[in-house]
Amino acid sequence: MIPPAFEYVRAASVDEALAHLAKYGDDARLLAGGHSLLPLMRLRLAAPRVLVDIGRIRELAYVRAEGGELAIGALTTHHAVEQAAAVATAARALADAASVLGDPQVRNRGTIGGELAHADPAADYGAVVLALGGTVTAAGRGGRRTVAIDDWVRGPFTTALQPGEILLEYRAPAAAAREGSVYRKFARRASDYGMVGVAVRLGLGADGRCTSARIALSCVSDQPVRAQAAEAALAGRAPEGDAVREAAAVVLQGVRVADDPFCPADYRTHLAQVETARAIAEAAARARAA
Ligand SMILES: Cc1cc2nc3c(=O)[nH]c(=O)nc-3n(C[C@H](O)[C@H](O)[C@H](O)COP(=O)(O)OP(=O)(O)OC[C@H]3O[C@@H](n4cnc5c(N)ncnc54)[C@H](O)[C@@H]3O)c2cc1C
Repeated sequence: MIPPAFEYVRAASVDEALAHLAKYGDDARLLAGGHSLLPLMRLRLAAPRVLVDIGRIRELAYVRAEGGELAIGALTTHHAVEQAAAVATAARALADAASVLGDPQVRNRGTIGGELAHADPAADYGAVVLALGGTVTAAGRGGRRTVAIDDWVRGPFTTALQPGEILLEYRAPAAAAREGSVYRKFARRASDYGMVGVAVRLGLGADGRCTSARIALSCVSDQPVRAQAAEAALAGRAPEGDAVREAAAVVLQGVRVADDPFCPADYRTHLAQVETARAIAEAAARARAA
């Protein structure tokens, strides 16, 4: 379908984009890679009067390792996330997710900022950023503010972003020695959205026991979820045998599991448990090698 008519303006800087948002208010939507917004417009599920194109603000396309953190600008494409050496070193789960997200066209146009702002419950980065931890920085006319990643998503397609704000950056604590992270996605076909996505970040002590564990899932409910019961099951234990089985068994404890004809809730729960056990084993292997 052809989208309804709209006005198009291109912003050359963050300040210019903020000025457009202030001018057009609720009539305006930001356009980054366009790979979520334009399909919605073509389906007439979104009909902004003005598109503010931020896609060429080069200052927002970067990956940097700085002061023990990994900083990724909002306009960094999925492909650039997948390829960045700093991501592979500091937050490998993000590179895992970027490598299985959509198809090459999507990965070359879609951006991390667009994905985090869109907050699709089936989006791959949703689980990854929750498992990695960190912050999102946004700018508005009143200045900049930083939101903890656990407080970012407020519901399906809803985030802490306020009207008139632009997401600038995602920042994750970089992996320390003996820390590893992984993202595993189970999809019906390559390039599909997942039926289940599991991200795990583990830290191991010299004795091989978990000193830290963060586990999160996407595609399983109406927003990405932290699996705190599973994290607790690993605390202080070696990530193997009973510890892994017990963590996997409770990974969706307290979650209202999505149920649809393609993936009934009991099957999705089974997938989540199997993928969690595999993800813990892979994250542990990466942590041992780090
Ligand atoms: C065929 C296809 C397959 C896909 N498969 C997957 C998949 O398997 N896994 C997956 O996770 N995703 C998938 N996607 C979605 C893809 O990852 C999108 O790129 C992403 O969700 C949105 O990024 P974008 O840059 O394209 O954002 P846009 O579509 O430009 O924008 C999306 C929303 O975010 C807002 N926005 C964008 N940037 C900012 C910003 N900096 N600050 C504030 N608001 C902003 C926009 O106003 C809009 O509301 C798929 C998309 C397509 C078309």
